[in-house]
Amino acid sequence: MNFKKLSDKTHGLRTDEQLAVGENPFSTNKVTGHSLNYPIAATCSPTKVCVRTCYFGSGPSTWTAALRKQWRLYHSTVADPRGTAARIADWAGRLKLTYVRWNGGGDLFPESVEAINRVATLRPRLPQWVVTRLPGLAVGINPAANVYVHCSIDRHSWGRAAPMLAYGGSWFWSYQCDAGEVPLAGTAPVIFYDHYRPGKNPITADDCPLNAADDISGVCTKCRRCFNGEAVSRAAELLPSLKSRLDSLPHPRDTAADCSGTPTE
Ligand code: SF4
Repeated sequence: MNFKKLSDKTHGLRTDEQLAVGENPFSTNKVTGHSLNYPIAATCSPTKVCVRTCYFGSGPSTWTAALRKQWRLYHSTVADPRGTAARIADWAGRLKLTYVRWNGGGDLFPESVEAINRVATLRPRLPQWVVTRLPGLAVGINPAANVYVHCSIDRHSWGRAAPMLAYGGSWFWSYQCDAGEVPLAGTAPVIFYDHYRPGKNPITADDCPLNAADDISGVCTKCRRCFNGEAVSRAAELLPSLKSRLDSLPHPRDTAADCSGTPTE
């Protein structure tokens, strides 16, 4: 299912319901185990590459029950960010999670930023791994020792990284290859090939291990690079090349202006 079909299906299943009393806010998936998934139709600002490569557009995350749960979590977060944060912190303990993955699907919105800040405070030793294509909202996440902001970039969206340069917390960018694209060395601290398939291209230290995995189950739990500081350290090494790339863009600030949450493409 491509992004548009998934977005249409998600819109069609929209419910105003919130999570039921006692309901687990987490969803499960093969790669990260547990994650907090929000409806793409309400939260994503997709790039052209997202539209073509969205990994959330296939499998169980597109099933009706999963989409309805995404809406329930979304409405709970909008209605009561602090209460939802308390629920997330509680369930993270019950499930014995060793990290919280935000936006397994979907993206940030103002109330989820508030919830992230609250969960990070309630669980100060639990890594919060926040994946986003909306740096304009991500800069509202409070810097904290247990929070890692992961800004996802592709060939059409380098300018979206610009707001992050002023961010005071731990952050890094990953690079999502388009179909058939081979990234240059040092493009990003974490690189994803299209559908995790590098073909005959050599795997480098910056490649996400999913690119070489025969079985993607539980790979993030073993790797942890995105939420143990390794990707953040590598980002510091690559920052000069990111800055020069942004300087070379014709209108980097204009490109960054589309990152506040409004779908643009
Ligand atoms: S680099 Fe590691 S933690 Fe990050 S997405 Fe890939 S497998 Fe998961």
